[in-house]
Formats: sequence, C-alpha cells, structure tokens
Amino acid sequence: MALIIDGKKISADIKDELKKEVEELQKKGIQITLAVVQVGNDSASSVYVGNKKKACAYVGIHSLAYELPESTSEAELLSLVNKLNQDPAVNGILVQLPLPKHIDENKVIRTISPAKDVDGFHPQSVGALSIGQKGFVSCTPAGIIELLKRSGIAIEGKECVIIGRSNIVGKPMAMLMLRENATVTICHSRTKNLKEVTKRADILIVAIGKAKFITKDYVKDGAVIIDVGMNRDENNKLCGDVDYADVLPKVSAITPVPGGVGPMTIAMLMNNCVQSVR
Ligand code: NAP
Repeated sequence: MALIIDGKKISADIKDELKKEVEELQKKGIQITLAVVQVGNDSASSVYVGNKKKACAYVGIHSLAYELPESTSEAELLSLVNKLNQDPAVNGILVQLPLPKHIDENKVIRTISPAKDVDGFHPQSVGALSIGQKGFVSCTPAGIIELLKRSGIAIEGKECVIIGRSNIVGKPMAMLMLRENATVTICHSRTKNLKEVTKRADILIVAIGKAKFITKDYVKDGAVIIDVGMNRDENNKLCGDVDYADVLPKVSAITPVPGGVGPMTIAMLMNNCVQSVR
C-alpha cells in the first residue's frame, strides 16, 4: 500500500510550530511583519494573497497589505519596494506575481532587499542556494523537502529525477536535493527518451504544468512521486501532472493533488518570515 503524503496535515503541523515560535518571540518584544504587495486585481492572485494574509493571522505575523491599481507605474512600485526595504519594522516583502505587462518583474525582484526576500526569488538568494550559503529558499521546493523528511523518506544517495527547470520550482528543487545528497537529474521539454530517465528515479518530482502527463510507464516500481502540478482536468477538477490513479498501485509514496505540495508553499512562506528574525 502506498503512503499518501498528507500535505495538509504536515503544513498544519508546521504552522502550529511556527505559531509557538512567534509567541515566544512576541514575549521578547519581537514582532514579525510581512508586507504583501499586489498590483491589479487578477482573481487568482487575489485568492493567493488572501490565503497568505490568513496564514499570517494564524501564525501571529503582522501583515501589511498594499493593493495597488493596475495602472501603477514601474517607478511607483519600485519606490514602494525601496521604502519597505528601508523600513526597519518590515521583515519580509512579497510582491505577488504575475505583475501587469508594463512592469519588469525581474527588475522588481532585484530591487527587493535579499534580507527581506521571503519568496527566495532574488538572484542573491538563488546564488546563495547554489553555493550552499544561507539565504531564503523558494517556498514550493523547500516545502517538498519538508514533505519528504516528515514522511520519513530518506533522500541521501537516492536517484532523484526532476521534470521541469523553472526558476521557482525545478532549478531550486535540484539544488535542494543536491544539498540533501541525492543524485540529481533535471529533465525538460527537450529531454530525449524521458521515460527511460524517469524510470531510474527513486524519487520523481514532476513540475511540468500538464494534466495527468505522467502515467505508470514513466515510473519505477516502488518510486516516491512528488506531484507539483496544479491543473484542471476535462471535468474542470483540480489535478496534478501525474495520473494519480494510474501510478498509485506501482509507487511506495505519492502526494495527492489537491492536498499534497500545494498547502506547503504558504507554510514555508511563513517559515521564511520567521527565519527573517531568527
Ligand atoms: P513552467 O515555468 O511552465 O515550467 C514547466 C517546465 O516543464 C519547463 O521547464 C518545461 O521545459 C517542462 N516541460 C514542459 N513540457 C514538458 C514535457 N512534455 N516533457 C518534459 N518537460 C516538460 O512551470 P512551473 O512554474 O515550474 O510550474 C509547474 C507546475 O507546477 C504548474 O502546474 C504550476 O501550476 C505548478 N506549481 C504549483 C505550485 C504549488 O504551490 N503547488 C507552485 C508553483 C507551481 P522547458 O524549460 O524546456 O520549456
């Protein structure tokens, strides 16, 4: 019987641990503040921002919401980020992506102080991760490491195959698995003989963005499957990049969608906020 990795439970545990840590910090007079900036009113972004604010309230992190109109110029946004960088009362800055097309996202990310970069997207944070130095780590891959560790799944020495090389999931995931002493292979849309590569994996992490793409033919017997994908199937139901029902009989552990990787991202954002004062 495969272990169904319960991301909802693990993320709730992490938030409870953080809540206690935040209470202890508050007793010492330390308050953590996260500034959340949203430009425009993209409905998906509004849901994400709302969930982040809710998580902050639960853990005891003070959140400052900046809801700016779609017409906000790049200069205005950069000026706000600079102001927040300089504000000693603000510990973390999160600018919700995507930004409207007239604003250069990379420029905004580079403007956030690395000391307050709780999303872990600043080039300095990314560089620190690749050379094994301290810094904020992108929340989704950091959450996957927690899922594996808290489920008792050993990483060291394992063959880990990651499908997807995005800056927010695939690449930092590879660096983290390397840090945990896995043998890491990264696949992408130009990988030849994908099935042959993925069938080597003891741990297969899938972040492609294609509904139910990975079937049992891609999976070795007894593999651990981490499904990062968030897609809609033909019935408009939320599903992952992995065909869950098809691979389930073959695997030793798997994350469901929803309820696997998804809930971990916000838990790790809260962790990064607390890390900013640790
Ligand atoms: P992305 O930036 O679109 O990257 C997708 C990656 O998959 C690319 O590297 C692409 O290769 C690769 N790819 C596409 N088709 C492929 C194929 N047929 N064979 C092999 N590789 C293929 O996506 P992302 O931002 O990493 O997100 C991936 C998925 O995770 C999405 O469903 C997203 O919604 C989800 N996600 C979930 C969370 C969460 O909190 N649960 C967080 C972030 C993302 P190339 O580089 O060659 O184009």
